[in-house]
Amino acid sequence: MSTELIRLSAADLAAKLASGEVSSVEATQAHLDRIAAVDADIHAFLHVSDHALQVAADVDRRRADGEALGPVAGVPLAIKDVLVTTDMPSTSGSRILEGYLSPFDATVVARSRAAGLVPLGKTNMDEFAMGSSTEHSAYGPTHNPWDLDRIPGGSGGGSAAAVAAFEAPLALGSDTGGSIRQPAHVTGTVGLKPTYGGVSRYGAIALASSLDQVGPVTRTVLDAGLLHDVIGGHDPHDSTSLTDRWPSFADAAREGARGDVLRGLRVGVISELPDSGFQPGVSKSFRAALAAMEAQGAELVEISAPHFEYGVAAYYLILPAEASSNLAKFDSVRFGLRVTPSGTPTVESVMAATREAGFGDEVKRRIILGTYALSAGYYDAYYGSAQKVRTLIQRDFDSAFAQVDVIATPSAPTTAFRLGEKIDDPMQMYLNDVTTIPANLAGVPGISIPSGLAEEDGLPVGIQFLAPARQDAQLYRVGAALEALLVDSWGGPLLDRAPVLRQAQGAGEVA
Ligand code: GLN
Repeated sequence: MSTELIRLSAADLAAKLASGEVSSVEATQAHLDRIAAVDADIHAFLHVSDHALQVAADVDRRRADGEALGPVAGVPLAIKDVLVTTDMPSTSGSRILEGYLSPFDATVVARSRAAGLVPLGKTNMDEFAMGSSTEHSAYGPTHNPWDLDRIPGGSGGGSAAAVAAFEAPLALGSDTGGSIRQPAHVTGTVGLKPTYGGVSRYGAIALASSLDQVGPVTRTVLDAGLLHDVIGGHDPHDSTSLTDRWPSFADAAREGARGDVLRGLRVGVISELPDSGFQPGVSKSFRAALAAMEAQGAELVEISAPHFEYGVAAYYLILPAEASSNLAKFDSVRFGLRVTPSGTPTVESVMAATREAGFGDEVKRRIILGTYALSAGYYDAYYGSAQKVRTLIQRDFDSAFAQVDVIATPSAPTTAFRLGEKIDDPMQMYLNDVTTIPANLAGVPGISIPSGLAEEDGLPVGIQFLAPARQDAQLYRVGAALEALLVDSWGGPLLDRAPVLRQAQGAGEVA
């Protein structure tokens, strides 16, 4: 019974909750049991809630009282540790925030609670969301449920692994340069980065404020739409929040799954995207997904985006610049850790000792890089130039979207690499973000959905779709349409083939 419950999509679970066939306490218990059984191996969670069952019981009671509840009330949710919560610590994967309790909930968390979602816990991540593997977490890496020796992506590897390992049906992530989409790609899950300003950043511990965006990580496109409907929309606490009235993204996904949205859809394929940098199985899966769309009447259009190749270089100046400023608040006075050196400590020496002990190597690397790029003598040469490149990339998108409805790319150049493989080579780690970064630089939405398994290693591959700003609904329509086609051709969801599901049917162990 509980094995059945963890296998359900959020949409199917919500239907059973609404009909009274299953209680939220039962569903929550099933997921807590799953976490207890497998998370020692996966390490998706940094903290598991000790009162999830109480929250679930409250939802069950309200339902029994006849209260009108939202469409996903009673469904469990995993929350990336970058999002602050009043009832669980929020560390952003860093020592400097160990045990930190926020006095307020992030808006996306408050909205999740108001919708009756049941927070299961906080998920692991690269420290302050800097990384593509979770290996930069101060609390040890997360393991990919498809192969425990491999990375689950990053920075939001915990959220993606939790969803892929059936520890949670829904998870919240954040995406500054790909941290929702790349983990989705390497774990066979769905992840969407909304249009910049579409989802509140209030209470999301800032990495790079002009790039950060919170979004859903799930196993199906419809589930992502359901969660996006809960968390999205204007928030007066976030000055960059758009005031748009958004359509229902769940409805868009449903329309995509049953409609004929691929017929006549113009899908842009970037001519400059170097096939050579991509693992053969990734390129092959991408081409096969495009062919499947073409067979349904989609029109493939070659487009030019000549500045995309400079995206990584521009991003790794803009991001460190903003991060160096955002992380200045971790000063030993206002939040978390304080280390007092021996001798006669001064404000400066306490601050220095705290930051020395509290930040990991990657965070220090980016603070130094960002401070340098912003320094008076180098501002124009580095930060200023990077901002110009950002504008050129935005223009590439503008001219591409004059010709096509969506752009398609592989979600990342390789499948999940091995833990330890790139940790000592930051450049290799950064290059993994080549296809995801442009969307953040331009503020446009992007989704990654599973496109299959790479033939050489049997690991998941994702296809990414990008749409013009504000057209997130288009990504749900197209994503759900392709998902329906592919799942049909596979004879069932991709995750059915993951070793972890075979374990889910039997004992709790993953390995
Ligand atoms: N891998 C990217 C980085 O290291 C993405 C980070 C993110 O999206 N939070 O910056």
